[in-house]
Amino acid sequence: MKQLFSIAFFFLFSLSWAQVKSPEEYLGHQVGAKITPHWKLLEYYKYVASQVPDKIKFEQYGTSVEGRPLYAFFISSEKNIARLEEIRLNNLRLAKLTEGDPTLSDMPAIVWMSNNVHGNETSSAEASMMTLYQLVNPNNAKTKAALANTLIVIDPCLNPDGTERYNNWQNGVLGTQFYPDLYAREHQEPWPGGRINHYYFDLNRDWAWQTQVESEQRLALYNKWLPHIHVDFHEQGVNSPYYFPPAAEPFHEVITPWQREFQGTIGKHNAQYFDQQGWLYFTKERFDLFYPSYGDTYPIYSGAIGMTYEKAGNGSAGLGIYTSDKDTLTLVDRALQHHASGLNVVEVVSGHADKVVAEFKKFHTDAVEGRLSSYHSYILKYEPKHELKIRALLQLLDKNKIQYYSASGAVKGLDYFSKRNESYTIKNRDVVIPGNQSKAALVRVLFEPEAKLTDSVTYDITAWSLPYVYGVPALASTGKVAKSADYKLPTVSNTVIDGFGYAFKWNGFASAQLLAALLKEKVSVKTSEIAFKLNGEEFPSGSVILMAGANKNIDFKKIVKQQADKFAVTLHPINSGIVDGAKDLGSSDVKSVKAPKVMMLAGEEQRALNVGEVWHYFDRQLEYPIVLVNPKNISRVKWDEIDVFIMPTGNYSFLKEKAQSEAFANWIRGGGKVIAIGNAVNQVSSQGWSNIKAVKQDSVAKAKESPLRAYADRERDALKEYTAGAIYKVDFDKTHPLFFGTDNYFTLKESANLFQYFTDNKGWNVGYIKENSLMSGFVGQNLSKQMKNGLVFGTESVGAGTVIYLVDNVLFRNFWESGKLLMANAVFLVN
Ligand SMILES: [Zn+2]
Repeated sequence: MKQLFSIAFFFLFSLSWAQVKSPEEYLGHQVGAKITPHWKLLEYYKYVASQVPDKIKFEQYGTSVEGRPLYAFFISSEKNIARLEEIRLNNLRLAKLTEGDPTLSDMPAIVWMSNNVHGNETSSAEASMMTLYQLVNPNNAKTKAALANTLIVIDPCLNPDGTERYNNWQNGVLGTQFYPDLYAREHQEPWPGGRINHYYFDLNRDWAWQTQVESEQRLALYNKWLPHIHVDFHEQGVNSPYYFPPAAEPFHEVITPWQREFQGTIGKHNAQYFDQQGWLYFTKERFDLFYPSYGDTYPIYSGAIGMTYEKAGNGSAGLGIYTSDKDTLTLVDRALQHHASGLNVVEVVSGHADKVVAEFKKFHTDAVEGRLSSYHSYILKYEPKHELKIRALLQLLDKNKIQYYSASGAVKGLDYFSKRNESYTIKNRDVVIPGNQSKAALVRVLFEPEAKLTDSVTYDITAWSLPYVYGVPALASTGKVAKSADYKLPTVSNTVIDGFGYAFKWNGFASAQLLAALLKEKVSVKTSEIAFKLNGEEFPSGSVILMAGANKNIDFKKIVKQQADKFAVTLHPINSGIVDGAKDLGSSDVKSVKAPKVMMLAGEEQRALNVGEVWHYFDRQLEYPIVLVNPKNISRVKWDEIDVFIMPTGNYSFLKEKAQSEAFANWIRGGGKVIAIGNAVNQVSSQGWSNIKAVKQDSVAKAKESPLRAYADRERDALKEYTAGAIYKVDFDKTHPLFFGTDNYFTLKESANLFQYFTDNKGWNVGYIKENSLMSGFVGQNLSKQMKNGLVFGTESVGAGTVIYLVDNVLFRNFWESGKLLMANAVFLVN
């Protein structure tokens, strides 16, 4: 027996010498029989690359939050790999992003495969090892032929931090065999789960916004390449079969006939293969193409065929699990199916490579010639008070390779805020974003005042038009506006001189970032609740005053200059405590801002995505400390040390416990500040000390409907009561600190949640929705009637404390720019 084993071993060993080891040989087990750790996944990729260096090149394009490397592997024929940079540049010429004439002959189709954007959907990374191996296996005639006219880019793992959170847990609870019973602990993934990244963000909602470093670094590489095909591998619930394209309605209307058609071509080919294997699947359902920040839509709006593939699985599936029809779904099978889909895509694309390249070129030719635009120009109206918001918006455009410029002349167009057509003369610092450019489709989707859905069943928000998100006045014009010059706002470099001190204006999130930085540096800071004038300059309410005399113990000038320059905030010198017009700097309306200690609960009761929004906002955007406490440990909190308690959407069971809720109420009465967001407002409203009350939903509209309805219409009927997320104009009290620095606010309403106005001086009605306030997005007809005359942002005093109610999420996916200032106001300025 021993001898036999040695002979067999020698045979295998010598075979391995002759060719690259398959993942099975390399790992020592069938792919999917165990979970491959991230380091080992990369080790296999690098091993294969080292064996066939003429066919594979790779680069580290970034690092995850927790320090894990992010890689892209480029696989093609020796000939293509030798001229990789030439292919890339030629492709950018096809995409009209670089000057020069592109060549169509000898241009390979570029297929990009993304794995594990959701870290606990682990079968795609496992499958990708088999795909990599088959792509370079000289005995595979199909892939060998495909590499001649196809360049494949594989990102083995987009979300290594989430992946390793899942892998470490899963490998830690597995023994020598798996147990397929759903109730076994290996199927009960602990909070917050591996789907999301370090800051609990869903990276498959972040492509356009790039708030997360993984997305930002990946998109920098992606936009350097702009592949023709993008495949995004996922997993869905364990009882679903396999999903592949074509996608479901609604499609955004900018999606071209070719993009629809080729999804169908690829889908048909995949269906044939799945039929042969007897594998079940569905298409055209559930996964729509509308919201621009997915791994299918973003590539589509950038000219590619973007596609989502979903195998049954995800966090609960483990190595094997019983499905409802008593089958056992194994990781081995999940990986095999994704592997099959991956190879199918390569085969179909290779079979149509010339057409794929030609259509990519056509998309971008149409784009620059204005055939993909609805409006041909978007104009951001510059005013000094909007400069910080415009700077933030330009950063987003830069990340997405969207072009903009300066121009002059008269235009007609639709004003976003008034929704009226107007004539307008373009001014010196206005920004013009041409609708006709390489990224025309993306520009249209991000800027269109009202996006048109071909169908209204979508499971994500339906409005994100950037002038509303940033609160920047803008115009959408069907006229073309020619470029007069590159657009550039001057770099801010403050001159600091000895004197009384400095003031800076409060008019954007950057003002709040500067305030947070100064507080961290122990700078003594004051803010004025009323507007004032200094040397002819107007300072709006909330503006910050820094007195030299109060900051003698620190390197005041150096700190102030460094930080103000960093955030591009202009410092204005103050010569004396006397100001023109309003009250002087010694007035009681000028208040010291203390550095508050901020806390939030983060644990199984909370919704990880919402905890993540607040955590990332403080840690990486405001760059201000926040203590995260597990709800289990709330009895250990030293409330007298806490100044601000933030309650994102989640469940707060301590409010129902007598001792804990009393300690909490006493803390508020003693001067504590609560910021309740989303459904936390509803929970707080049930406390005895709270005076806020939800608006009762109107049942009249519903009752008037005919009781006779068709069963098949049930999904569409339900829509009448539904919004996935639409933009409403908020009317607000400009004198209240919650809205300092804001002159337009548009809120994302994800539900019908509205509250009654405070009466009898019980609280402040700060932001509210009046009638006809819907600006953009889909709202069901019944719900739409109810969405009026209600409070969305309010405050009330409880003893010496303050409760701030943010009924709508102001930090949505951390890209709702104007909401970030609102949150900073709540933390620092509202008292
Ligand atoms: Zn997924």
